[in-house]
Amino acid sequence: MPVLLHDTMTRETLPLLPRRADGTYGMYCCGPTVYGPAHIGNFRTFVLQDTLRRVLETEGLRVRHIRNITDVDDKTIRGAQAAGKTLAEFTRGWTEKFHRDCAALNLLVPHVEPGAVAHIPQQVRMIEALVARGHAYVAKDGSVYFKVCSCPDYGKLSHLDRSRLATQSTNSAGEANDADEYDRESAADFALWKARKPEDGANFWPSPWGEGRPGWHIECSAMSLEHLGATFDLHAGGVDLCFPHHENEIAQSECATGVKGFAAHWFHSAHLMVEGAKMSKSLGNLFTLDDLAAKGWSPMEVRWALLAGHYRSPLNFTFKGLEDARSALAKLERAADALLAAAGFSRAEFAPPSVNETQVTWGRFAAAWERLRDDLNVPGALGEAFKALAAPAADAAQARQDVAGLARLLHALGILPFQERPALAVPEAVAALAARRWEAKQARDFAAADRLRAEIAAAGWTMLDRKDGYDLRPS
Ligand SMILES: [Zn+2]
Repeated sequence: MPVLLHDTMTRETLPLLPRRADGTYGMYCCGPTVYGPAHIGNFRTFVLQDTLRRVLETEGLRVRHIRNITDVDDKTIRGAQAAGKTLAEFTRGWTEKFHRDCAALNLLVPHVEPGAVAHIPQQVRMIEALVARGHAYVAKDGSVYFKVCSCPDYGKLSHLDRSRLATQSTNSAGEANDADEYDRESAADFALWKARKPEDGANFWPSPWGEGRPGWHIECSAMSLEHLGATFDLHAGGVDLCFPHHENEIAQSECATGVKGFAAHWFHSAHLMVEGAKMSKSLGNLFTLDDLAAKGWSPMEVRWALLAGHYRSPLNFTFKGLEDARSALAKLERAADALLAAAGFSRAEFAPPSVNETQVTWGRFAAAWERLRDDLNVPGALGEAFKALAAPAADAAQARQDVAGLARLLHALGILPFQERPALAVPEAVAALAARRWEAKQARDFAAADRLRAEIAAAGWTMLDRKDGYDLRPS
């Protein structure tokens, strides 16, 4: 059964099937602009894209995942200058930080992570093709603009009313564009190549139109063509990229190659709010993973909180939501421990499915998987999973099937259970009692073990046994 997903272009929920003869499923995701740490709004988008890839792979598709790095634009150039570094040094540092955060959130590494600077020749070639085909023009200062009126179906992705199309006013950081207003034939036209300006410093490259640098939109068109071809299966990004960025990508790509159907499917995730407010620097709510770690939240709890809510609805990220994520994750781990005990397995045997596994076992998690497969309904899937976990497994055979099904489901969600979390402050006396009780139990001195358990309970703690150890939590 194919995975189903809502498509922004057709506004329909459609099956995701590879179009290439070799069966690979090409997925292009707009990546970060590396001028600082990514915030949770960025990460919600990347976590959802990662989850979609995992679901497709769980369904058996061979995904080719491309996610670009924007390493040249106004923000990166200004940031490098302020830091007294070269653009390459500055963006390398922030790219590495992004990779560390992605690893902490258990994001799979894309198959290719192309950078804009490394693809300037490809961008220049695409702009040349656009000029040659009459879709772009060179301004007096050597900048090149895309001629929006040359593209009759411009606006088809965001269902834009073309008569109201006023201006291309934002850059990759959502800020107003600078001087490229002046030489444009129409306010709707957007920059493909920006002529060199003194404030660019050493950051300029040669082109047939003089020295300068590419505009932002062209990089994704050039890099998706390079790594996936003129048409591919799925393009993803946050909803804020739908217009103008993705609209411009379609126009550039289809006009440059002459091939319609740039991306077969468009996947956009809704906005993230923080405590009911729009994220902004002035409100101080652009939380990074480090900000949340400093407040005691683990990356897995953050991933869970970012996934809680359907991707098509705006998510209100709150500290109450993080607390809910913490208790849901702990509840899931307790239930998983009980299943493992019933199956006679240790935690080490709670492994994600092997790629070569032919026999798909969902146990009592088939309904949860159905929800996930149908338009990436994570809240629905988690609801079904907890419903299944509410009753104990009937016997060891069922418990073993359930362990396989739950491990597969959590792998598809990218949730790693049993991770180290900021330790609970267990009083030393309680920890000592627990260690003595564990020893007594190993020595099969059950009377002593029971007495010690009662002492631990009297101190306000509960000891939860596993096959290979124990946990303590406040009772
Ligand atoms: Zn893009």
